[in-house]
Amino acid sequence: MRDLKQVYLDNNATTALAPEVVDEMLPFLREHYGNPSSTYSFGSRVRDVLEKVRSCVAASINALPEEIIFTSCGTESDNTAILSALEAYPERRHIITTVVEHPAVLNVCRKMEDKGYTVTYLKVDSNGRLDMESFAGDLSCGTAIVSIMYANNETGILFPMEELGRMIESRNVSGGKILFHTDAVQALGKVPVDVQRLKLDMLSLSGHKLHAPKGVGALYVRKGTPFYPLLIGGHQENGRRSGTENTASIAGLGKACELATKALKEEAAYLGKLRDKLETALLSTCPGAIVNGRTSERLPNTSSISFEHIDGEAILMFLDSNGIYAASGSACSSGSGKPSHVLEAMTVPASAIHGSIRFSLSRYNDSSDIERLIEVLPGIIKKLREISPLSTTCGH
Ligand code: PLP
Repeated sequence: MRDLKQVYLDNNATTALAPEVVDEMLPFLREHYGNPSSTYSFGSRVRDVLEKVRSCVAASINALPEEIIFTSCGTESDNTAILSALEAYPERRHIITTVVEHPAVLNVCRKMEDKGYTVTYLKVDSNGRLDMESFAGDLSCGTAIVSIMYANNETGILFPMEELGRMIESRNVSGGKILFHTDAVQALGKVPVDVQRLKLDMLSLSGHKLHAPKGVGALYVRKGTPFYPLLIGGHQENGRRSGTENTASIAGLGKACELATKALKEEAAYLGKLRDKLETALLSTCPGAIVNGRTSERLPNTSSISFEHIDGEAILMFLDSNGIYAASGSACSSGSGKPSHVLEAMTVPASAIHGSIRFSLSRYNDSSDIERLIEVLPGIIKKLREISPLSTTCGH
């Protein structure tokens, strides 16, 4: 059997480690294994590096080093931000979020509803845009936190963070500002992220979405923001997140942030061109294909395409057998058999929602990857349409 070219188009699920990141990590796995909390030099040298990395991560979002807390992942950062805000304002019983958040936010909010909190889930329109008018009316003196994602992991659609930040700041509430948190896990490294411009109080990020390893993330907490840790134990991270630091992965995260910040503009332009090539070709060769949120502001690397009257899992299977890897909906809902809650919220028609595929690119993709997809996918769609019961019955 000839060797198939592997084409990885699922970078919103996870990314390949950058070689520079691996180089940065290796000394911490091999020689510099000291505990950064130790007082002797073998440990304190590692602590010095951690502090340098903290500055690097902070610089990538225009924050101060002391405003960065290292965590184990984006999920931990999201959980910590929301639960901390609720602990800071025990008298406030209201959270605002959106219907299209990642489960790392949505499921915390649902759990808080079970505990008696009120949660407003802002809706989106068919282009994935937020209902800003209703947002203004929903802010109240009982609101503890607004948690709204920067970029959607399934569609890449960007929310108007600057406008949201301004609206929250202008809302005067006695007893402390309504806290503004964003899940920027998919945004960092793809669009500029500036916590000052966006007037954010907290921001979550995750290493493995930007060519750093899995199992490391960070939470930005603006100086002066009331904060309550999720993990309680030792004094690490200034008592804000206990547990011995994952030093090698943190070093990798710092390098990944540095690389992403340095190349942001060129990379965004490069990815946008590849994405446009992919969409133009598939729209012209696959009848009944719709790009979700095409007219909205989007990440340059993400394309969510619904193919009418076909099952997305079948498309993925055929792509897989051709060495091409993509996702149906988010990595988390993939395989659940349920349609994506994001596409449902955008009222993607029943005839198309089950045939939705997310292609997400990275700096390691090139034109030949897109050409391979274009060579293979139209034939798969045609074949599946011919055999699919969904092509005659739309009521899936
Ligand atoms: N938030 C968003 C938008 C994501 O896409 C993801 C991962 O898919 C997460 C949070 C969770 O990040 P992690 O896998 O680091 O926990």
